[in-house]
Amino acid sequence: MNFDLTPEQEQLRDAVRSLGRRYGHGYFVAKAKAGENTTELWDEAGKLGYLGVNVPAEYGGGGGGITELAIVCEELAAAGCPLLLLVVSPAIAATIIARHGTEEQRESFLPGFADGSLKVVFAITEPEAGSNFHRLGTVARRDGDEWVISGRKCFISGVDEAAYVLVVARTEVGGKLRPALFLVPADAAGLTRSKLDMEILSPENQWLLYLDDVRLPADALVGRQAEHGPGGDEDAGLRALFAGLNPERITVAAMGAGTGRYALERASEYTASRSVWGRPIGTHQGVAHPLAHAAIQVELARLMIAKAAALYDVGRDLEAGIAGNMAKYAAAEASALAVDTAVQVLGGNGMTTEYGVATLLGAVRAGRIAPVSREMILNFVAQHVLGQDKSY
Ligand SMILES: Cc1cc2nc3c(=O)[nH]c(=O)nc-3n(C[C@H](O)[C@H](O)[C@H](O)COP(=O)(O)OP(=O)(O)OC[C@H]3O[C@@H](n4cnc5c(N)ncnc54)[C@H](O)[C@@H]3O)c2cc1C
Repeated sequence: MNFDLTPEQEQLRDAVRSLGRRYGHGYFVAKAKAGENTTELWDEAGKLGYLGVNVPAEYGGGGGGITELAIVCEELAAAGCPLLLLVVSPAIAATIIARHGTEEQRESFLPGFADGSLKVVFAITEPEAGSNFHRLGTVARRDGDEWVISGRKCFISGVDEAAYVLVVARTEVGGKLRPALFLVPADAAGLTRSKLDMEILSPENQWLLYLDDVRLPADALVGRQAEHGPGGDEDAGLRALFAGLNPERITVAAMGAGTGRYALERASEYTASRSVWGRPIGTHQGVAHPLAHAAIQVELARLMIAKAAALYDVGRDLEAGIAGNMAKYAAAEASALAVDTAVQVLGGNGMTTEYGVATLLGAVRAGRIAPVSREMILNFVAQHVLGQDKSY
């Protein structure tokens, strides 16, 4: 067992850390408050190759794995810039296209993921289906050479910044409706959106999407999923979808761990210097112990993230699924605890914009709900680790 990063991974971590710190949480908050995106940071990270670390080298990427992408997510978050788009575009969309796209799709999409110039967001959630993706009501039907898609999606992050939306729909394969993924241009005729007002301070927005007979060419379907007739590979769409889920859980966990580190760093700087009884408040155990407890939770989550990423990168997908879900659960809880504790030990300053911790409360709270809620992870672990019958 080796707990060290490789020299290249260490270099990546240090380089991303210094980029993130150059922008910092002040930049992130200012952009969010102005209703603007973090374009400068995204573009610079893209040019430096950090957004394409997991894209295969033959398409211009770094040729690394989810371990490398998790490092990028964690370090930007640890610098106060948790970018949700890193999870949807390079982690989910790029992985699905690299692993399940046709050669033409790989050639046309992966170079854009490699330098960050292409953003593809991910749309699975629907108002009626919620956590139960078996109830997805967005349907794609074949009409000659084209696909026609109709349905509704909600909470879709970053649509205003994206060139494409990777839409999870259902289509008839072998006489049954099965999941299938489509690359829908964000400006496609029939695709409209409205912004959801969220109580999260973030430069990235969530959207309701309406797909009203959106017509797409045959090659908008990712891979050749639905072309298989009866007896063919009917689960190809499901496999393509699942390919994106482990990277999603691992990178979102890494962002949570980074956010936790950021909050604890702000808090411990403060408690080491703030003095109200003649010595720093950090010398009071009532202040120091909650911080130490949160630091332990963050570190435990980081360990599980590293395990999940390592399993995923060597192709042990089933074990990575369990570890990735556990990592996501642990990191969401740890980051919520770390931010809440940081707010508490900063006293009144904890609630100011200037000290930059309360600004993360909404984001870490949402991390316990999205992209998969803590209850759905507990269901998964109860069933797949503890052997309990499915309860729902
Ligand atoms: C900030 C943010 C960004 C998001 N970005 C995206 C995005 O880019 N793309 C996208 O597709 N979606 C996105 N989502 C949606 C997110 O994935 C969903 O909100 C999440 O999966 C939960 O689904 P739901 O909101 O429909 O809750 P519901 O499924 O309605 O669940 C409500 C509550 O009931 C619990 N619950 C439901 N079923 C069970 C059960 N069987 N057992 C126990 N408890 C249960 C849930 O855990 C939850 O606490 C985003 C959400 C947020 C908040």
